[in-house]
Amino acid sequence: MNLFDFNRHDLSVFLKGKGYRGYCSDQIFQWLHQRLVSDFFSMSNLSKASRLEFSGIFSCQVPTVVREHCSLDGTLKWLLSVGEGNAVETVYIPEKRRITLCVSSQVGCALDCAFCATGKSGFNRNLTTGEIVAQLWLANRYLSDRYPGENRRITNVVFMGMGEPLVNFEAVMRSASIMLDDFSYGLSRRRVTISTSGIVPAIDRMAERCPVALAVSLHASDNELRDKLVPINRKYPLHQLMAACERYIEHSPKKFITFEYVMLKDVNDTTSHAEKLINLLKNIPCKINLIPWNPFPSVSFSCSTNQSILRFHNCLCDAGLVSTIRKTRGDDIDAACGQLSGEVKDCTRRGVLRLQKNH
Ligand code: SAH
Ligand code: SF4
Repeated sequence: MNLFDFNRHDLSVFLKGKGYRGYCSDQIFQWLHQRLVSDFFSMSNLSKASRLEFSGIFSCQVPTVVREHCSLDGTLKWLLSVGEGNAVETVYIPEKRRITLCVSSQVGCALDCAFCATGKSGFNRNLTTGEIVAQLWLANRYLSDRYPGENRRITNVVFMGMGEPLVNFEAVMRSASIMLDDFSYGLSRRRVTISTSGIVPAIDRMAERCPVALAVSLHASDNELRDKLVPINRKYPLHQLMAACERYIEHSPKKFITFEYVMLKDVNDTTSHAEKLINLLKNIPCKINLIPWNPFPSVSFSCSTNQSILRFHNCLCDAGLVSTIRKTRGDDIDAACGQLSGEVKDCTRRGVLRLQKNH
């Protein structure tokens, strides 16, 4: 069994079943997730007999780093193999006062948003809890190797890598709760952000299960345009999404929702688009994050000009909304938002049709 798949409660139940005391799971958690020790024989406060037994029961499976790309701005992108020719990407983003890790939750994504490289790469499978948590473990290991003795750790996690986190609900909720646990990474709820394209029922379930910061990828403020850009909108249209966001506020660790809005030239970036957006969001405590569209081959979008991004931003601010323009990080290594495509053995119908066409 992969130890990274366990939350502390389940580990404790399992170990109690084998006659161990409750605190044994606390100790193992501290070794694995805090001291980053993955070898039972080094867990010196466990008895020799238990170390031997545990190493026969558990393994600590960490995806292998297949490639590392370093950006000029300090951003790193790791390509992690998750077996059978599939690989996902994790992005490490150091800043002055925080170090953010952008984690993947699926191999590819089936939702096929028109402007997203991950969507265009198809979909293979959900990541397991262990594969998600191990991304954070690996990044912390990197930090402790690079800055020995300094106890530097990842301070923020965003589920904005490959995949739609709320489609992989169970594994994402479990991994987020492991990240929050004081016996492991101890991140505060405000420092773990789940970004979703708008899986309405899952937003409600997340409020009950593990309410962390919520970011919603909006990108359009009417159904006609959003249906085209974010096809899941056909299933969960805007009025349902907005209602779910209002309900979520009650549970959110931040008293606002972040709305992400990718700036696409002549598609969603005019003053009239800004006015519609203002109207849509006027009753929700929120922050709007304008994301300059990051290019990738084979699609016909282009990024809005700086001038129109600024104009859009000013419209929102003048109407009293809080808007920021996201600084693009890692774009020289294709690590910026929406540029992650990893290596996906696409097994969607779309992918199969594409293969047939090419042969
Ligand atoms: N599936 C989730 C999280 C991953 S995408 C979601 O859609 O929210 C993280 C963010 O990057 C989303 O807001 C997404 O819409 C945005 N994005 C996707 N492709 C992009 C691109 N090429 N340029 C800029 N942002 C992009
Ligand atoms: Fe999937 Fe998010 Fe990309 Fe849409 S934007 S295809 S939901 S990863």
